[in-house]
Amino acid sequence: QRTQDRRVSRADSADDRVAARVAAGITGFENTPDTDPDLPGNREWGRGIADRMVNSQLGKATVEAALVTSEANLEAAIERGRAAAAGWQALGADERARILHRAGERMEARRAALLEVMGSECGKTLDQGDPEVSEAIDFAHFYAALGQALEQVDGAEFVPQNLTAVIPPWNFPVAIPAGGALAALAAGSSVIIKPATRAARSGAVMVEALWEAGVPRDVLQMVQFADRALGSALVADPRIDRLILTGAYETAETFRGLRQDLPILAETSGKNAIIVTPNADFDLAARDVAQSAFGHAGQKCSAASLVILVGSVAQSKRFRGQLLDAVRSLNIGTPDQLTSQMGPMIAAPSGKLQRGLTTLEPGQTWMVKPGAVDSDHPLARDASGASKLWTPGVREGVRRGSEYHLTEYFGPILGIMTASTLDEAIDMVNEIDYGLTSGLHSLDRDELKLWLSRIEAGNLYVNRGITGAIVRRQPFGGWKKSAIGAGTKAGGPSYLFGLGSWTDAPVAA
Ligand code: GLU
Repeated sequence: QRTQDRRVSRADSADDRVAARVAAGITGFENTPDTDPDLPGNREWGRGIADRMVNSQLGKATVEAALVTSEANLEAAIERGRAAAAGWQALGADERARILHRAGERMEARRAALLEVMGSECGKTLDQGDPEVSEAIDFAHFYAALGQALEQVDGAEFVPQNLTAVIPPWNFPVAIPAGGALAALAAGSSVIIKPATRAARSGAVMVEALWEAGVPRDVLQMVQFADRALGSALVADPRIDRLILTGAYETAETFRGLRQDLPILAETSGKNAIIVTPNADFDLAARDVAQSAFGHAGQKCSAASLVILVGSVAQSKRFRGQLLDAVRSLNIGTPDQLTSQMGPMIAAPSGKLQRGLTTLEPGQTWMVKPGAVDSDHPLARDASGASKLWTPGVREGVRRGSEYHLTEYFGPILGIMTASTLDEAIDMVNEIDYGLTSGLHSLDRDELKLWLSRIEAGNLYVNRGITGAIVRRQPFGGWKKSAIGAGTKAGGPSYLFGLGSWTDAPVAA
């Protein structure tokens, strides 16, 4: 299994080698002298974070202070935010950029705290949380520079908005709220951020870093709502110039229903597939499918929920063997175990996800049957005692047009489909309403060309996993029902351009 990297290879029982490997994971993909996993400091650093996870209280005070309990409170927050915008805009893009670069530095300084709170609150393993912190930092530096670029467009003048509402999800509790807030701030707007209730402490630690960097507290306000009606009142308020939302498609529709003219920039649901052709490197494909399906227990909009095997791959014992091995060798465990590659879900599965993890549709069989892990660990159970920690599931025989083929599950399940040709496989992907991420594993140029010319998704990945977009290099944004305000990608060069309006620049006399 030499081609499989550490993320899907079997656990090594020797303690310090495990710790060293994790240290390599939590310090990025390249080992610079500073991040050498064999330096004892790095091992201790990872262990310290893990030890603090179970009882972590980070962010709690900030969350409590952010509670909005009445219409009057909300009214005051909106007015404060709008009033503060003029001063933030008057600083100018260069000064704002200086503060936002500093925000990146403060998040780096709080990396251990961010990993601790994400693990404790959302079950993020260190190998998933670490790149997420890096993404948040990348957003800070990237949007700081883009904000300056807005002022340098020839012949047009950028007019900032005054107040942006940022409503992020719980699955990327640091990077997504950071991205939304930093983008709006760089574009000169005040922000009211409402972190997901289940991830509020993680959002709070991120927000604290931005305040510490010098973003004024009226310019960036964090809120939580005592009841849902107040949340609806925020979104429906005409003094909100823009909503930056990441969440389910249905949530975006609900918000649109509250206020028809609300300008929304939204990343929404996904149902994503990786196609594997007979010309693929099977070792690589199996590893990437497993990683894309089960990283963060499949709780990513970008996750692989389907793998479509083309032609002879459907019968290939070698591919199936590799996939089985990659899935079975994932280390399942709570995030305070340094070796965990797949942690608990945000909650014990219920509703559709529960069905998806326990029942098959006609014609389907389990290649790998999922199941709840019996553990007393506090991070493995929810308040009622039900298990949040499950082993992954792989179902065979997903039929075209079935519920599993076409809808999102948002958990650790992968479905296998088969197609006779690449064209047919592409049809199977394109008949899904969503178009977020999509993958092809093939080393054949003509197959690649065909796939590129036909596939309907916002983020395309070739011979790589389909999660883990990268600021600037691989910006992130969907198509079809995976986006509202499509065309501008988070972490891409045009993301700020729509966060304001443009007028003709005055001609010098
Ligand atoms: N940007 C993340 C990725 O590329 C996905 C974000 C999401 O799940 O909303 O994996």
